[in-house]
Amino acid sequence: MAGYVSGVGGAHASTRVVAIANQKGGVGKTTTAINLGTALAAVGEKVLVLDLDSQGNASTGLGISVEARLRTSFDVLTGGATILDAVMPTAVPGLFAVPANSDLVGIDSALAADQTRPFKLRDAVTALVGHQRSRSGEAHFSYILIDCPPSLNILTLNAMTAAHAVLVPVQCEFFALEGISQLKDSIEQIRATLNPRLEIQGVVLTMHDARTSLSREVADNVRAFFGPKVYETVIPRNTRVAEAPSHGKPILLYDYDCAGSQAYIRLATEIIERERQYKAA
Ligand code: ATP
Ligand code: MG
Repeated sequence: MAGYVSGVGGAHASTRVVAIANQKGGVGKTTTAINLGTALAAVGEKVLVLDLDSQGNASTGLGISVEARLRTSFDVLTGGATILDAVMPTAVPGLFAVPANSDLVGIDSALAADQTRPFKLRDAVTALVGHQRSRSGEAHFSYILIDCPPSLNILTLNAMTAAHAVLVPVQCEFFALEGISQLKDSIEQIRATLNPRLEIQGVVLTMHDARTSLSREVADNVRAFFGPKVYETVIPRNTRVAEAPSHGKPILLYDYDCAGSQAYIRLATEIIERERQYKAA
C-alpha cells in the first residue's frame, strides 16, 4: 500500500492524489484533468478535480461559472477554506471540483511571509483525508486530480508536495520533450526534499494524429525517454474534445461516442489496472 493514504468507504480504500503537470503550456493538462476525472467517475470512482491554475480552465470546462466560484483553491491555500468548504458538484455524478479564479495570480505575495508555503495544499489534503476517515459511512474521494498551471511555480510545488504521483501529459508535436528534463529534475528534487513518496504516475501522449509521421516519431521518442511509464493509450487529436469546454461539459457528456471520449475511458481503465498491479506488488 506504499504511496496511498489509507481511508475507508468508496470504491477504493484509499485516496490517490495525482498532480497533472507539465510546465509547457497547452499540452492537454486541463483537458486530461477534466476528462480523465469524468472517465474515472463513470467507472464508479469518486473524484475531485482541484483547479490550481489562475486561468480557471478546468472550472470553466466543468461548467462552473466565474460567479459561482464562491470559495476557491486560493482560499484553500491561504487558510480561508477547507477543501470540503470549497468543493462543488459538477454535472457528472461522482465528479466534484474545487474551482480556481484569478485570485491565484496573487498567491506568491499572499504566502510570502509564510514559512510553510510549500505544504499548504498537502496540509489541506491531509485534513480532508482525516475528515473522511472520521465519517466512515460516506464514500470518500478515491482520486484527487490536481490541474497545475504551465509553470514550475509555488502552485505546482504545492501540488507535487501534496501528491503521491505526477501524471505528465505530453503533446505529440515537435518540441514535445522540451523542458521534460527540467520537469524530471524538479520531481527528483521534490522527492529528495519535500515529498519522499512522489513518483511519476505515468506519461500520456495527447493530441496524437495517427496520419502524420511527426506524431508517430514524437510518440516513439517519448516512449524511448520514459519507457514503460508511457501509457499505451494515446489521446487522439479530436475536434470534439476541443469544442466540449466551450459548452461547459466534459467530452464524455458532450459526445460519448467520439474517439476522444473513448480514449479517455481507456486511459482511466489503464490507470486503474496499473494501480491494481502496483498495490498487489
Ligand atoms: P495550459 O498550459 O494553458 O494550462 P493545458 O496544458 O491545460 O494548457 P489544455 O487547455 O488541456 O492544455 O489544451 C490546450 C488546447 O488544446 C485547448 O484548446 C484544448 O481544447 C485543446 N486540446 C486538448 N486536447 C485535445 C485533443 N485531444 N484534441 C483536440 N484538441 C485538444
Ligand atoms: Mg490548463
